Amino acid sequence: MARIDLTDGFSIHDYRSRMKLLTDTGETRTLENRKDLRCPACDQAFDRLFVTERQTESFETPPDRPFCLARTAEKLLVLTH
Ligand SMILES: [Zn+2]
Repeated sequence: MARIDLTDGFSIHDYRSRMKLLTDTGETRTLENRKDLRCPACDQAFDRLFVTERQTESFETPPDRPFCLARTAEKLLVLTH
């Protein structure tokens, strides 16, 4: 089980075979974890990953489950468990 590594930033292409793309607006993407990738923040398997390159992002409703945040120089990642 691999952990998402943010050492050199984050590229979906590095993990594309392990995640299913659910939505893609160009600036934001939501992916489903299919092969037990581990969260870069807490090291546990996560359910979904939201990635944005935008400077700000708003959510109308909070996740109804535990979530973690991670960031690189260009991207913000929200991982739900
Ligand atoms: Zn986590």
